[in-house]
Amino acid sequence: MEGQILDCYADTARNRIVLWVRGEETVKFEYGYRPYFYVQGTGLDDLAKQIAGEAVDTLFESRRTAPSMRTSRLLKISSDNFRLLRRLAEDIYSTGAHSAFTLYDADIPYEQLFMIDRGVFPLARVSVSCGGLVHCMDSVSDMDYDVNAFNVCRMNVAISGKGSAQRISAIDIDGTALRGDERHMLLEAARILGEKDADILITEGGDDDFIRQMYRRAAALSLHSFTLGREEGMRDSYGAKSYTTYGRVMYRPSPAMLRGRIHIDTNNSFLFLESGINGLAEISRLSLIGLQQMSRLSPGTAISSMETAEALKRGVAVPWKKNRPEDFKSASELIVSDRGGFIYTPRPGFYSDVYGVDFSSLYPGIMEKENISVDTLNCGCCSNAAARAPGLSYYFCRKRKGIVPAVAGMLMARRRRYRRSGSAESHDRSNALKWALVTSFGYTGYRNAKFGSIECHESINAFGREMLLKAADIADEMNFSILHGIVDSLWLSGNGDINAFAGRVGKETGIPLCVEGRYRWIVFLRNRGNGEGSLNRYYGEFEDGSMKIRGIELRRSDTPGLVRFAQDTMLQKLRGSSDIGDFLSRASAGIAEIRDIVRCVGRGNYPLEELVITRRTSRNLSEYRTENEQKLALTALRSAGISRSAGETVRFVVAPEGSGGRIIPEQLLSGGELYDACYYTGLVARAVYTMLSPFGYTEERVISALRRS
Ligand SMILES: [Zn+2]
Repeated sequence: MEGQILDCYADTARNRIVLWVRGEETVKFEYGYRPYFYVQGTGLDDLAKQIAGEAVDTLFESRRTAPSMRTSRLLKISSDNFRLLRRLAEDIYSTGAHSAFTLYDADIPYEQLFMIDRGVFPLARVSVSCGGLVHCMDSVSDMDYDVNAFNVCRMNVAISGKGSAQRISAIDIDGTALRGDERHMLLEAARILGEKDADILITEGGDDDFIRQMYRRAAALSLHSFTLGREEGMRDSYGAKSYTTYGRVMYRPSPAMLRGRIHIDTNNSFLFLESGINGLAEISRLSLIGLQQMSRLSPGTAISSMETAEALKRGVAVPWKKNRPEDFKSASELIVSDRGGFIYTPRPGFYSDVYGVDFSSLYPGIMEKENISVDTLNCGCCSNAAARAPGLSYYFCRKRKGIVPAVAGMLMARRRRYRRSGSAESHDRSNALKWALVTSFGYTGYRNAKFGSIECHESINAFGREMLLKAADIADEMNFSILHGIVDSLWLSGNGDINAFAGRVGKETGIPLCVEGRYRWIVFLRNRGNGEGSLNRYYGEFEDGSMKIRGIELRRSDTPGLVRFAQDTMLQKLRGSSDIGDFLSRASAGIAEIRDIVRCVGRGNYPLEELVITRRTSRNLSEYRTENEQKLALTALRSAGISRSAGETVRFVVAPEGSGGRIIPEQLLSGGELYDACYYTGLVARAVYTMLSPFGYTEERVISALRRS
């Protein structure tokens, strides 16, 4: 048969690699497979003797290893027992922590090893012979593949009751509303999925946790053949967990993955939300991670996986590093946190006629241009010839392309081509690639990332700073003055020729500089802490009337609707400002309009859903020492039988003091509750102050202006 690889995963209980191929029909193929890993170190002969057994094969091989790329004698350990092999790797790793073993290729998912061995990848067009032999008819570098033929169903499920008394109370699936008898609803949902022959099932919150609840209820009701996949049961999955990344506690629900059908939970998929099925497909193909799995991973994990695949294709073994980061930061966030990049702090205030310019993909561009990679760092062949990173002693090979730059270059080239095409699919794919590129730099700096190295990170920063300084010099020469600069962006005022400027900078630095636009006006804000100009908090209006807003409450998803509405009211008033005088009188008019909103809040009947505040918890209920909003929310939820783990968010309304429960979780709202009008007026005042702080407003002044009758 011919078709497209819909999903590929390892069935660890049965030691099989499973391949679902969607053609005229969707067919499952299973393969026995012998995954492997390598060990380097002293005492390998003893180790080989020790572990040799019926299910385990050992073999010595000469192989190049990252990052040094030197060839060494490695012990290859393989087994067709998946769990046994994983356990063996763990055991050797923990012994190795005390002796001298390094493990390679040990944490690569087995389906990924399989796909590399067989030359296939997710969504590849393949033909499969009667004997199950897969032949790939597609190339991973192709850009005109298609995922639009997939059948997509959307499903949402309501659950009532608590704990063991939970029941399915409603299912909406593909436009059909199922109500009433639970057994009937479950069977109907499964039947509709089968009838539509759904390839992709999209839910909002299916991972956490209504998909599992549906299976549990079906079992309790003895619906033994119930399934939401194309086959009974669910895929193996890891449990929910709370983890810390860059100092924040996050929560990751346990994925509910189906067999033969791709379940995507929009609450648990950054990539799908940002770039839809086309963006997800693009990253899945390139990273050799199946769609269903990829939808739940960060672009950073995809980058790491692409680099690993690139290394394996070159015959290079990749060291196993544990404790890899789960999340990622963008380059500018990282730079602001470690102050490694170019920074020109703005003076807070109002400016008119400002140009915004930025380097497109500055960091990936530098990686590619300077060949910055852990495997090209201080190579043995170019020590004298190579140029060093500015101000540093590091240099990078000039003779062979590094793994990290190869991946970055490939992503940038694809993105350029998608952007030229202009179709909706290309837009989504380009957007997904943008996130992967943003992440590629952050990963370089992370010591525990597979291809991370602090030397590379510093070098990229050094080249980046040099380029921005060069751009600043040219700006000066061409009659522009710099108002603000950060990482890869500059804000300039002046009456030079902006396009000529951008062209010259692009030519002299080798990285294109794009003119983002001309702001009619822009306001740079203060830092809350020290009152100096903030690097990433500003708002302004472009000449075409569109606004750009960064770092204020309006942009944050945890801000209550009321506060967003107040800030938006102010922005609409400020739109069209011609100069500072005009701006300030518009600001006063804005405050007058917000006063009406505050009055409405004061009357006590403002819609409760507009007052819901979202907070991320940083620990479990029992671990909180102070009586903060999160703890009060968790306590109220627990007494209602609802538990939340560290890293999950809580949503609540603040009630008047002395009214029993000060914090009312959203789940417990019935509609008639009182709220603390004074508290909410304070939030609005604070948000207005955020926007007007450079203009002599204080929080107190805003509050009294808002209360004036
Ligand atoms: Zn070299």
